[in-house]
Amino acid sequence: VIQICLPLNALGFVYREVRDALINAEKLLELLREKPDVVEPPGLPDLQLRKAEITFEHVAFQYDPGRPILHDVSFTIPAGTTIAVVGGSGSGKSTLARLLLRFYDVGAGSIRIDGQDIRNVNTASLRHMIGVVPQDTILFNDTIAYNIAYGRPTAARSEVIAAAKAAQIHDFISAQPQGYDTPVGERGVKISGGEKQRIALARAILKNPPILIFDEATSALDLESERAIQAELDRLARNRTTLVIAHRLSTIVGADQIIVMDHGHIVERGTHASLLQQNGAYARLWYLQEHGLPLEKA
Ligand code: ATP
Repeated sequence: VIQICLPLNALGFVYREVRDALINAEKLLELLREKPDVVEPPGLPDLQLRKAEITFEHVAFQYDPGRPILHDVSFTIPAGTTIAVVGGSGSGKSTLARLLLRFYDVGAGSIRIDGQDIRNVNTASLRHMIGVVPQDTILFNDTIAYNIAYGRPTAARSEVIAAAKAAQIHDFISAQPQGYDTPVGERGVKISGGEKQRIALARAILKNPPILIFDEATSALDLESERAIQAELDRLARNRTTLVIAHRLSTIVGADQIIVMDHGHIVERGTHASLLQQNGAYARLWYLQEHGLPLEKA
């Protein structure tokens, strides 16, 4: 009996693993609000990462025929630097991130990483290099440790703890009845918005990617948590090629480059100081935000 049961149990275990993996992949896509649109031919080589320089060259894109979303978008993010994208709601900021992750292919132009067109490398190797800290992190109905290790499922517990410490969520986790094995979600502990962001941050720290996409949360946390998280993000972004989709200008003052999008066009670019000096769209957004108006309404 034992001989028969063991393989069946093992199969059950494997089935559960596969099923969970599938559910999670779906959730991840839901989280990115995307249906994968790209059909990839088999056998594409891995992305060969050298410095992680990203170039968008004359990129045009539309989700639906006849409704262009991006027009002739060109920029380079030199290796290890940060570019921040600002602009009103629907101006195309998140679309840039989706294209970089290759959920869609560009309609015209190209996106290259270290000179390699991302259409010519396999998407698994591409996404392996990119960490995403999304606006709203969806936590899986599983333990806190699982949710952090999602960035790198093979990570040892000690590495999970180190990442949690770096994201300053370790003390909160340790205070839970079952520590890292405490379940979150429907049947588990309630997690606040700030704690969720920290878990997402720990996930990204654990993944340790050379490229980072940070989709800033629109829902404001309290000022203190926000500053603390911002400091951690700045640390994470250091020496990584980073694309920030910004909703608050105050957080991107130090970005190496800022691009301002309007209806899918880049209308301005520069540093915070040079853009203020230009006294154009960015300066106007800055002024509005200084007076407490959300960018989305600008
Ligand atoms: P926000 O600040 O509100 O997040 P955004 O600048 O990030 O906006 P995008 O999400 O890039 O804007 O959207 C750009 C445009 O593309 C919008 O008009 C949006 O309605 C449209 N769009 C986004 N996703 C899809 C999709 N999956 N199918 C069709 N149109 C889409």
